Amino acid sequence: MTGADMAAVRPIVRNYDVFADFSDPIATWHRFLEIVNRTQGLTILGTQHHLFPPVNGVSGITGMVILSESHAAIHTWPEHHYASITLSSCSGYDSVLDFERHLAQVWPNFRGAFHDESLPDAILAATTVGPIQGGRSRYQRWEFFETVPFGKAMGLDGVFQATELDEFVYHELLAVLPTLFHPNPVEALLIGGGDGFAAQALLRFTPVQQVTQVDIDGEVVQRAMQWFGTDHLLQDPRFELVIADCMEYLKAPDRQFDLAVVDLTDPFDETVAAPTRSPEFYRMLKQALRPQGILAQQIGSPWFQTFQPRSALGFSRRFFQQVQTYWGSIPSFGGAYLFLMASDPPLKRLREPHPELRYLSPEMADAVFVLPPVFRTNLDLDPEEPETRPQVASPWTSVTENVP
Ligand code: SAM
Repeated sequence: MTGADMAAVRPIVRNYDVFADFSDPIATWHRFLEIVNRTQGLTILGTQHHLFPPVNGVSGITGMVILSESHAAIHTWPEHHYASITLSSCSGYDSVLDFERHLAQVWPNFRGAFHDESLPDAILAATTVGPIQGGRSRYQRWEFFETVPFGKAMGLDGVFQATELDEFVYHELLAVLPTLFHPNPVEALLIGGGDGFAAQALLRFTPVQQVTQVDIDGEVVQRAMQWFGTDHLLQDPRFELVIADCMEYLKAPDRQFDLAVVDLTDPFDETVAAPTRSPEFYRMLKQALRPQGILAQQIGSPWFQTFQPRSALGFSRRFFQQVQTYWGSIPSFGGAYLFLMASDPPLKRLREPHPELRYLSPEMADAVFVLPPVFRTNLDLDPEEPETRPQVASPWTSVTENVP
């Protein structure tokens, strides 16, 4: 069975910490059964529950619901106003979201988890507060949720896109930094960027006077801008939103730009951004830029799925004289994250960063271009190298291999 086969059938497991009055165990059990019974995609095959002897006059209850999709369980500590609830469902993620909707109607004060799906064999997750608001647009699965570590967050197709905690790092590096290298950055083309943060950073912290944002998904843009409070952009005369596939828009852009900022979802196979992992995308980006134009793009992790940065660097080097890699620390993206900056004229920093920036100090604006040797090693690997395991050149490999 391949990893993909397993992922397709493996139940999704979510544990919930629920805070409420559970002093009436039978009422609790019936409410729990009602939540499971109402959840789309779940079929009850049987139940079992047990009442514990009273403690301080109240009885706890433990109960299991056998589902054809796996199981659901509840375990209460009424004396602490607390219950642990588990759902294990192979009925798909929609059933998990529906379970949370019904759970929130009965016991609204609960914590769950968002699991980022971009790294199949590594765990990147966050404790969530209350239900995840999820749905599907024409192009992708969207989720908006509150988290304990990252504040407000957004996911697309199960992958973190932006969080309140660290979006400023990402957008200062992606959108603000390249403007320091352009003599007169007035017009910026923003590809993707549905959460609105990149456009907001460009108009707030750089000399850019006109942002044209091209995003394929009008529903995601509208929801995301409302969720993060960047919808003020829609009234800003310096901001223009074009709902289109960037691969179509770039075939005939209505003008050229000083800056092209690429803030797309990861271009993994079978995703809406997949066609951008192609030489054609970089050829068209080059054509959309004026002669001194600069391209900036997020290109993924230096540790995992390094085919993504390697292909972005390889393709951009075909069309731009100068291509520089830089990086920053973005916890919700799994730590170190890479960017590229490309242009024909030499890339030389011409001005200091805005004093209100919280990641790009004048020193950091230079330091971010220093890559640890292991990142260079991982980026120099053959772009065709199959992703069999993290391409990490580890000095300890020899030690572990020699362990008897
Ligand atoms: N910061 C995120 C990251 O690093 O992955 C990206 C944020 S933003 C939400 C990504 C945007 O790319 C989404 O709004 C999505 O709709 C847009 N997008 C994906 N494929 C696209 C395409 N082919 N054309 C235009 N926009 C696209």
